Amino acid sequence: MSKGAGGKERKPATKLVEAGRRKEWTGAVVNPPVWRASTHLYEDSKDLAKGRPDADGYFYYGRRGAPTQWALAEALTELEPGAEGTMLYPSGVAAIAHALLAVLKPGDRLLVTDNAYEPTRSIALGMLAHYGIEAQPFDPLDHSAFEAAFCDRTKAVMMESPGSLTMEVADIPFLAQVARKNGAVSILDNTWASPLGFRALEHGCDISVMSLTKHVGGHSDLMMGSASAGEEYYPALRKVAHYMGQVVSPDDASLALRGLRTMDVRLRQSTTSALEIATWLQMHPHVAHVLCPMLPGTPGHDLWARDFTGGCGLFSFVFKGGKPSDRARFIDALTLFGIGFSWGGFESLAVPFDPARMRSVRPWPPAGWNPEDRLGIRLSIGLEDAGDLIQDLKQAFEAMGEE
Ligand SMILES: *Cc1c(COP(=O)(O)O)cnc(C)c1O
Repeated sequence: MSKGAGGKERKPATKLVEAGRRKEWTGAVVNPPVWRASTHLYEDSKDLAKGRPDADGYFYYGRRGAPTQWALAEALTELEPGAEGTMLYPSGVAAIAHALLAVLKPGDRLLVTDNAYEPTRSIALGMLAHYGIEAQPFDPLDHSAFEAAFCDRTKAVMMESPGSLTMEVADIPFLAQVARKNGAVSILDNTWASPLGFRALEHGCDISVMSLTKHVGGHSDLMMGSASAGEEYYPALRKVAHYMGQVVSPDDASLALRGLRTMDVRLRQSTTSALEIATWLQMHPHVAHVLCPMLPGTPGHDLWARDFTGGCGLFSFVFKGGKPSDRARFIDALTLFGIGFSWGGFESLAVPFDPARMRSVRPWPPAGWNPEDRLGIRLSIGLEDAGDLIQDLKQAFEAMGEE
């Protein structure tokens, strides 16, 4: 769905409130109604024969959406400076798969960041191989190896920053520039920062992908994904999404729009709490590393401070030594943190991670660390009181010590 008339240069918090609320879609109420529609009716045979332009914002058939989905897509486009349009998908993984399919063909090569979200790795190294597309993992922090990895068949680069679980911050403007110089499309999974924290297209990326399941939904009650691009790549995203029948339900689009309106305050609050909790963890005797680039003194902070305008509640830490059974006791003792995947909801979550088997070129634990320090926990900080969350972590560390 392409950019509407409302894309004036307002601050992001204001855009979150205004974006996508066209009068012709909302009528006299604040939010666009839920248009449940497979069939859009035509006036008469003449109207049917006339057809509809193959463009956004025209009723045609339910697969091309209705105003509820159009309003969400337009709002996301307005939030991403440089975007011409946004496609919606039933999950973040679907958005990643279809963005890759939109720019790659048999015989092409893809470079994929080694710290990608695990399903992204599986798409790149597994599914794409069936279509004759070869993928190669790269270390996002090794610039010379990255530059050397291109050949004339390299047509796309899949990036993510901070990386999933291990939270390395990549120099995205540099990587995107190298990709462009080599004639490759750069795709960024921008789920962690969202356009509020990192303006992907302004920093040189061609396509910005998000799992809307996380911050945009924000309430752990929907699955959705998006891909936004400028005029060069938006038409390819749109064409492939239509070929592949990608459509989201108006009910979910309406929930995502509701989440979007409050995303700025939710992210600010969870960022503040995450910083307080990460600072506390940094001092804890059982913690070897805090992987939270928003926090000064942690890996990636300088690049984060240079490029990002905001953060969120998702970060990781690594225990000093210990056994998996100690970590399990820690997790089981938590009372305020749920144990579960996903993140970006109003409720805090904790999951253990062991990324070694998901890394090809960046070892885990990284060079320079004590090899005993390897057991990670990822926290998603929600909207509970930060002091309460710290108390919960404190008693879990104590429970871990009691065997
Ligand atoms: C969760 C996640 C996805 C996938 O999103 P779904 O909506 O769960 O399919 C993609 N990228 C990152 C970084 C994620 O954390």
